[in-house]
Amino acid sequence: MAPMKTMKAMCKPPLIEDIEYVWNKLPTCRRRNTIESPFHSLKRLTIHFGGQWHAYNIIALPDADGIMQDHDFLTLAWKDFRHHLRVAIRRKLMQRPEFKTRFDMLGAQDGINFELTRFLLTSAKSTLSFLERGILRTVLAGAVWTPSRQLAANKITIDQARCVHCGQGCTETLGHRLWHCPAWHNLRCKHRLLDFDHSSAPRCLTRCGIAPCSPVSDVSPLEWATLVKHVQRFMVEVHHAAMNTVAAQRQFAFLTKSRKAPSQGGSHT
Ligand SMILES: [Zn+2]
Repeated sequence: MAPMKTMKAMCKPPLIEDIEYVWNKLPTCRRRNTIESPFHSLKRLTIHFGGQWHAYNIIALPDADGIMQDHDFLTLAWKDFRHHLRVAIRRKLMQRPEFKTRFDMLGAQDGINFELTRFLLTSAKSTLSFLERGILRTVLAGAVWTPSRQLAANKITIDQARCVHCGQGCTETLGHRLWHCPAWHNLRCKHRLLDFDHSSAPRCLTRCGIAPCSPVSDVSPLEWATLVKHVQRFMVEVHHAAMNTVAAQRQFAFLTKSRKAPSQGGSHT
């Protein structure tokens, strides 16, 4: 078994001693517009993400429930410290007003089940290909570049934003592509989602494949985990299929060549 890699193991002893020496001599940084040392920058960042740097080797960070936990560089495994740092940063980002008001992330504000949400991405049992994992990352980040979003960004016109996969003539939003477009009916069948009541499920799940901490009602934990995986696989296949059609590629090629379209507004549901 490989030895645990701690900060102490990664830094040679003189460096640890130097850090301790500088920490003890560090003056208080009072003004942000003055030139500050790397220590001051790191202290400021720690506070920005809700933490406190108590001593040269101790940083306190909020856990997923917001409870402060002390972490000692000298004894903590480096990978564990990175995990605690990620949790604190995620927590901070999820408190931002931009996240709380996002249409496609409703339901995620009360907490995300990260283990379940990332299962297909990280599990050794996942059968997703490299490309499919990339698509899933884009989905989970809420970054699928749909025609409705291109319209909202004034990149294309209303006519150009119509769904090219069916003859319904409506704007191709995420909601239309995933849950209404008849072109993907066979994929909904394949992933057993025809009976899924997407309209009453959290939107972070139905648009971005994110599992909130609270499952949809009347679903057992096992069914909930299965449902989330089905939804994610379905989303990956729909987006993959949609971007591979000739019509969609023509639409995207037009976008990359075109100049800014006149502002016409639009939703990106
Ligand atoms: Zn359609």
